[in-house]
Amino acid sequence: MPAPDSRVLLLSPHPDDIAWSLGGTLARMRGNSAELHVLTFFTQTRYAPSHPANGDPREVSRVREEEERAWARENGVLLRRATLEDASLRGYDDDTEMGAEPAEDVVRQVAEHVRTTVSDVDPGLVLVPLAAGGHVDHAAVRLAAAELVPPARLAWYEDLPYATTDRPELPPGCREVLVGVDAHRSAKEAGVMTFSSQEPAEVLPVLLAHMNAVGGERVWFSDPSTADRLRLLKG
Ligand SMILES: [Zn+2]
Repeated sequence: MPAPDSRVLLLSPHPDDIAWSLGGTLARMRGNSAELHVLTFFTQTRYAPSHPANGDPREVSRVREEEERAWARENGVLLRRATLEDASLRGYDDDTEMGAEPAEDVVRQVAEHVRTTVSDVDPGLVLVPLAAGGHVDHAAVRLAAAELVPPARLAWYEDLPYATTDRPELPPGCREVLVGVDAHRSAKEAGVMTFSSQEPAEVLPVLLAHMNAVGGERVWFSDPSTADRLRLLKG
């Protein structure tokens, strides 16, 4: 069993969030022999804009599960999937899902999965979405993680593509870490393209432009002792 410090848990509101936001960082950590765990929360959905089944929850959820499992296999990820209904099945639309306060019972369900997984995996580092742009599902994950993940183990990532237009609200006093991902660009591209139901050809250029503009992928931490735990993102 690897040392706890090499176990990383990445919290992914939806099946594609880690590929889009942290695809290069993930490849970099894999190269540093990290044990990579991803917990995905909102897997039940009807949203698949570039798939013929778009709008059909059962078929879309199945297609997206296949995409995510293929991505996990390809990227050496140990995947856990909750089966929560995403915003599209809870009555939100493309506009109302942005900036809404997550319902208490949704945060509670997310928290239950965070608690169980942190206990099972005992990660040295947990990567949590900042909820840039305020997507209600991302906000639920950020809120739940803030309650349950010890600050020394917690780092936040900027949610893409939202963060390309909306600067995330950063926790007070946090410090930025720029992860160089030039050597992992092709891994990120391939990862993004795995999610063929999500218009990856339109999204990828936006992600790459952001990566070029900021010089990599960005994470933040606030507890000084976390810096030590971020060595998996370097080297
Ligand atoms: Zn998402």
